[in-house]
Amino acid sequence: MGLKVYFNGKLVDASEARVSVYDHGLLYGDGVFEGIRSYDGLVFKLREHVDRLYESAHTIMLKIPLSKEEMIRAVVETLKANRLTNAYIRLVVTRGVGDLGLDPRKCEKATIFIIADKIVLYPQRVYKEGMEIITVPTPRNVPEALNPQIKSLNYLNNILAKIEAINSGCEEALMLSAHGYVAECTGDNIFIVRKGTLVTPPPYAGILKGITRGCVIELAGKARIPVREEMLTRHDLFNAEECFLTGTAAEIAPVVRIDGRMIGAGRPGKATLRLMRDFRGLTKSAGVKY
Ligand code: PMP
Repeated sequence: MGLKVYFNGKLVDASEARVSVYDHGLLYGDGVFEGIRSYDGLVFKLREHVDRLYESAHTIMLKIPLSKEEMIRAVVETLKANRLTNAYIRLVVTRGVGDLGLDPRKCEKATIFIIADKIVLYPQRVYKEGMEIITVPTPRNVPEALNPQIKSLNYLNNILAKIEAINSGCEEALMLSAHGYVAECTGDNIFIVRKGTLVTPPPYAGILKGITRGCVIELAGKARIPVREEMLTRHDLFNAEECFLTGTAAEIAPVVRIDGRMIGAGRPGKATLRLMRDFRGLTKSAGVKY
């Protein structure tokens, strides 16, 4: 039996869950989404993800025909139907079916679907030995044009960056802002450790305020590791003691090489390993039970 997908209020076989070619999510990337994880029967930071989804939707004036509580229940039902205790959940709300023009008023009802499946982003080796990233030519979208807090279905900016990294023989791309400051990676936020302080770009660098990023800032506070938001250059990265990426799918992924420069000792650092351990603990203790 295949996976069950939540599709507009019903649980259907994955093969039956199909969107219309007139759906504006497909035609224009007009929609919003979230990626969520569950660990041992707990949905990690579910409320935060649902809040962010509704904020993205509010900004693009997309009405979600479910209350937040109903949405939370729909996520839990989807997980239960698939008997998954450790899952990656993709929650998608599109503008819905319209005509071939842009006008969102022509789309009467949002399309909602929830997929609960597995995801492996980086191989296990990355978490043991660290990964290499490379700066790509495509800058992160200018936030004045498209605010990165809107987690929209249009990820072409990030996909172009990913393609450029892959073309250069690297799995992940470092994206800079249009002004040349460090922004983020294609689906992850970035941190460095400098003189014992954890430093990460501020939201005005044009980044998504990641939920994992927020967790790491909180965990660092508890571990008495000082944290600062600061505009960073590639020079700052090259000369950092440690570097790592954070994201729902990636969790905390150590970075040991950037643009051919070795970072610190060239292996996952002490603060990184500590935060990875603390994060693992957090995923086992906090979340919506199902
Ligand atoms: N930046 C971008 C562009 C992302 O798409 C994501 C995750 N989807 C992140 C950062 C990390 O955010 P989170 O920790 O909330 O998954």
